[in-house]
Parts: sequence; structure tokens; C-alpha cells
Amino acid sequence: MARARRPFFCGNWKLNGSIAESLALATEVRNGVATLRDADVAVAPGFTALYAVAKRLEDGPVSVAAQDCFWEEKGAFTGEVAPAQLADVGCKHVIVGHSERRQLFGELDAAVNLKARAALRAGLQPIICVGETLAERDAGETLGRIQAQLDAAIAEMSDDDLSHVVIAYEPVWAIGTGRNATPGQAQEVHQFIRARVATRSAPLAPKLRILYGGSVKPDNIRALMAEADVDGGLVGGASLSAESFVRIVKEGSAA
Ligand code: PEP
Repeated sequence: MARARRPFFCGNWKLNGSIAESLALATEVRNGVATLRDADVAVAPGFTALYAVAKRLEDGPVSVAAQDCFWEEKGAFTGEVAPAQLADVGCKHVIVGHSERRQLFGELDAAVNLKARAALRAGLQPIICVGETLAERDAGETLGRIQAQLDAAIAEMSDDDLSHVVIAYEPVWAIGTGRNATPGQAQEVHQFIRARVATRSAPLAPKLRILYGGSVKPDNIRALMAEADVDGGLVGGASLSAESFVRIVKEGSAA
């Protein structure tokens, strides 16, 4: 059966890699997916390697994402990076609201919304992350938490804005733990996200790509992608090896 949406896989390299290491990994990924026609693929190197990696991947099938951005365009914001600066170095997407930003750096829902909207203004595609903690899941608060994060993240977006957004469902308890959500757990939340977006825009919801993230590996991506509302993966640890990331992309897009 044909997929309802084109699969999208993004490797999140987090705080890893020199320029040389990032170039080598990016080149291997590019070569590994060179013949693939039925998925979109992106990598998210650290800030310092973005320009070099974007140049290396120029005109190829793999696009470049940043891992975060600020919401102002310019000014006295020492240490911050504006979406337009990311576009300037060749980024096409930016991850916003990753749980590590939320948990380790105190990023709030309102900031995620400001970042996502600023990214859209700069022509970048925001990959907006939402996800519950283990305590929230155990307390039966998963869908409530997802709804609150999602509603806040897409607040004050036009339909045109929304049409450029990607959502990543990343249960916090599954990130970097080796414990992925079951396909059924992922599907329940993905379906909920799509239904929630449908209350904002019924025509856009079926087109929205919703990625799953949390210990995605070559041997679990097929089952996840077999679910109706799972449209790809945001991959952390397993994207640091080109061999495993390329396998994830191939297995996932063939599922
Ligand atoms: C992530 O960082 O977005 C992630 C899902 O990490 P991992 O694949 O390592 O769980």
C-alpha cells in the first residue's frame, strides 16, 4: 500500500563531532542514500560543522538541520543563533523543543513556539519535538502533556505556517535509553497528534509528517513505520554511524 506521506528521517548528532568527523559522516550518509528515491533524509550536525556539512551536501539528496535556534533575528543576545543565520549557512530545517533543551536548559513551551515561528519566518522547516516523561506516562498524563506541548508549539501559526511544520514525538523515557516505544504506543500518540492538528486545520492534518524518536534502530524502524501515522524517524545515537542510519532510512522507507 502506498504511504500517505513521504517518509522523512533526520539524524540528530547532538554534541558530537569535529568538522572533519562531521564531513566524513555526512559524506558516508550521502553516498549510502544516493540511490534512494522514496524518502527525505536530513542530518543535524553541531553548529560549528553546519556550514562545512551543508557545502559538502549541496545539491545532493541529504539536507541539513540545525539542532536549535533563537527567536530574535539580531541584537544583543550573546551566544544565540538566529534562524536566518542558519539558513545563511545552508540549513533547511531546525529541531526545536528537543527534550534535552527542555529538561537540561529549562526551555518552556512558549519558547518552543517563538523558535518555531521564527524558523518559519526565515524559511526553515521547524521539526517540533513533543514527548512525555516516564512519570507523566505512569501517571496516565501522556496525551494531556502532548496536547499541551503541541497546542503551545503551534499557537498563532497560520495554515501556511502549519503546512511547513514537522512534528517529532519523542517520549523522554525512550531517548538514548535503548528502550523504544512499542509501535502501538507510538501510533496512539501519533494518531492523537494528527487528530489534534485536524481541529486546527482538517485539510492539513493528513499531510502533516509526524516522526517518531527514541532509541530508533535498524531492527525496530520497520515495525514503527508499519503504523499508519508514523511517517519517519528522528534518530539520535544510531545516526552517529552512517551504516546504521542508512539502514534505518532504507528499512524505514521500505516498510
Ligand atoms: C533524539 O535525540 O532525538 C533521540 C531520539 O535520541 P536516540 O535515538 O539516541 O534515543
